[in-house]
Order: sequence, then C-alpha cells, then structure tokens
Amino acid sequence: MSGFFGSVSKTDCVGDVFYGTDYHSHLGTKRAGLAYFNKQKGFQRAIHSLEDGYFRNKFENDIKNFSGNSGIGVISDTEAQPIVVNSHMGRFAVATVSKIVNAEEIERYFLEKHHTFSETSQGTVNPTEMIAMLIAEGKDFISGIENVSERIKGSCSMLILTENGIIASRDKLGRTPVIIGKKDGAYAVTFETCAFSNLDYEIEKYLGPGEVVMVTADGYEQLRKPNEKMQICSFLWVYYGYPPSYYEGINVDECRYKCGAALAKRDNLKADFVAGIPDSGVGHAMGYSHATGIPLKRPYSKYTPTWPRSFMPQSQNMRELVAKMKLIPNKAIIEGHSGVFLDDSIVRGTQLKDNVSDLHHAGIKEVNMRIACPPLTYPCEFVNFSRSRSSLDLATHKAIKKLEGSTDNVDFKEYSDCNSEKYKAMVEEIRKTLGLTTLTFQRLDDLVEAIGLSKEKLCTHCWDGSSYF
Ligand code: SF4
Repeated sequence: MSGFFGSVSKTDCVGDVFYGTDYHSHLGTKRAGLAYFNKQKGFQRAIHSLEDGYFRNKFENDIKNFSGNSGIGVISDTEAQPIVVNSHMGRFAVATVSKIVNAEEIERYFLEKHHTFSETSQGTVNPTEMIAMLIAEGKDFISGIENVSERIKGSCSMLILTENGIIASRDKLGRTPVIIGKKDGAYAVTFETCAFSNLDYEIEKYLGPGEVVMVTADGYEQLRKPNEKMQICSFLWVYYGYPPSYYEGINVDECRYKCGAALAKRDNLKADFVAGIPDSGVGHAMGYSHATGIPLKRPYSKYTPTWPRSFMPQSQNMRELVAKMKLIPNKAIIEGHSGVFLDDSIVRGTQLKDNVSDLHHAGIKEVNMRIACPPLTYPCEFVNFSRSRSSLDLATHKAIKKLEGSTDNVDFKEYSDCNSEKYKAMVEEIRKTLGLTTLTFQRLDDLVEAIGLSKEKLCTHCWDGSSYF
C-alpha cells in the first residue's frame, strides 16, 4: 500500500510530520521520505530505504537539520518519494498513494514529447515523478490533478506541498482515504487517523472521492467538489488499517469485532478457545469470542523485542522464515485442546499452512479456521497490495486448478457465490490443503454489513470482481 501525513502549523511542524508519518509504517516497507518548506531554506527533503531499518532511526538525524511550518511525509511500499520539482506553477513536493496500471503508456507519451525521467535503480519510472509531470501539464494545480485522474488507470491520492500550504487530493473513486485533522494553531492531513491522537489533532473532515482542498495553518478551502461515486477499498477495514483508525467515520477495530461476530452468528462450534492469528486476526477473534462466549486465548505469542514489525526480505523463502520465527506457539494452551482461529484473509495460504502444521506439532486437537472476508478470487488492479497476489498464487486459484485441471476458461463468478456447489468444493479443497479441521469464510453480505457502508460505495472486487476504473 503506502501512506502519508502532512501538517501546516503556525509554529515549526517538523516533529508532527516526523511522528505522524511514522504512524504509517505498517503500510509500507520499501522507502520513506520527508519534505518541509521554510521561507528561508526553501524545500528540504530526505529519502531513505526501509529495507534495513525503521523509519524513526533512519530519519532522526535528518530532522535535526530540518525546519519549517509545513511539511509532508510518506511511507512507500514501492518508489522513492516525495518528489520535489520546479514547474510553471512554482516549486512543489508531491507524495502519493497510488497504483498506475498504464504506466508504460504514460511513459511513452512523455518520451514522445521529448521529456526525460530520472533513472531509478530498478530501471523503471518512478510513478510519483510521473504524477508530478502530469500535474505540471495543468494550467494550475486543480487542472493538473484532474489531468492525473483522467490519465491514469489505477488510483491516486496525493499531498502536494507548495509554498502556500498543502494541497490534499483524494483518489477520484476514493479507493484510499485522505482525512483532515485540526488542533490549536495547526491542521494536518493523513491516510491513517491513528496518527492524530498522540499529536493532539481531532478529525475535522473526511475528503470525498476526487475532492481537493488547500490546507493552511488557518484552515482549509475546498478547491474541487467530491465526485458522487465511491469505491473505497474494503480491505482497509479487514487488513490494512491500524485498529484505532477511522475511514468514512467507521472505526477499523470495531469493524473487525463485527466481522468476528458475523462469523460467530453462523457457527455453532464447540471449542476450548478462540484465537486471532497475530496481528490482524486479533480484532476479528475478539468479536467472535464475545459473540460465542468461547474464551479468547493466546496460543501464539509474537516475539516483539527483535521482530517488532513486518518487514519484507527480498526472497519468499526468507519472508516465510521470518514469519515463522516471529510467532512462538504456547503448548500449555494448544496441547489436547480444540481451537477456533480467526485470520483476516487467505492469500497464498503458505504461511497459514505452516502455522497449522506448528499447531499439530504442539498437539492441538482441532484447528477450526474462520476467515474474516470471503475467498480472494480476483487480483487487485486498483491499489498496491504488498502481499503477493498474482492470480496463480491465490489459494482459490490453486484449489480451482486442482478441481478443474486448469483455470483457463473458468467462470470465477460461480466460485464466488457462497451458495454454489463449486464454491463449497473450492473451500473444501483449501481446507484439505491447509490441514484444517473446519474452514469457513465470511459471506460478502455479512462483510458489507460489518463495515456499514452501502455495497455500491465499497470496492469488493477481490471477492466478486465487481469494481471498475
Ligand atoms: S480489489 Fe480488493 S484490495 Fe483492491 S481496492 Fe478493491 S477491495 Fe481493495
């Protein structure tokens, strides 16, 4: 994914932007950057890799030299940003949460016009630089942002740090959130509202899809009205989001309790304990436990002193090893007992298979798995999902391939209908592959109800292939 934070203050805002950005560290593992504006010094910027260290360690020396009343920061799962450019609208820095599916087409367009791109180490064009170039094609920032919305296939929310304040713009279909916060003498803008509490900001406004505002230390002004249609990513509540955050006024953790309770409502399982697969399964497990009365226990502990957060080693084998080493099973809770385990989703299923095998080694009687969302059948084309989600990797596709011999010419709609025989056969295949006693996925209508927005405002494409550009 990726996430950003910005602040404009009557006093220096370096600390607010530093800590506000740090609270987005769960959203990206590759690069991070900060940019500040100060009338005397102009734009100051630093970018570091996060592949061998954490945001705070990487930037604590930089911020000693930075100063300014306005700034933006970004945690990025892909490219180096913010990008600082000079243009006919003046200098600006831009940070994005974006995915550009048609990047090659836009690259060709600019190259044909004899424009240049900075070379990245990966030999690819930096998507945020491409967005900066599309902005600079406009006669002003608003038409430049509209140009981005019209030209890119994918999604893009962004913060533009100008000499006069921060322009915040939400993706045209609102796939990702942008929220304004307020405190005495300062305004902030964020992806995750959990960044506000400890910096004393209160939520002031959720930007609508395609809405653009100029944020200054005195307030904010709407530059573009929101669009009617919305397709906010449902996965924000299920998995990406940090528990205390809100999107569209709906709290992440409360939604997870409701997901767990919805699974419980359709179950009459007897078990000794309920547990969440750390970390994102924990909220779902609490909801399940409260609804069923089955006690919540901790058969796994996460070894946080040296594995404090997810990071993404380059190789899949190493990633799997890290995932395994982080979780320590507790035999006292597991041995001879039957458990109900809640997880946010099953993507490839490889990690879950390892967890299940560890539980069997520790002597568990039953592993009943409950998944907070329906089976992931369609790869995401709209946001950068950090976990591998090529169709071939998906546990559903592997199961369908076993059942049908191939996934070519398969009508996936039949497999996403939870009442169909094909769906039941696919779930049974996944259950057998993972070595589970029972396996149930959330129904899509129950998930939509747990989130609490109407279905047409939510992107549920992962599960039913229903979204659009
Ligand atoms: S396809 Fe899935 S991950 Fe992608 S935006 Fe839609 S709900 Fe989110």
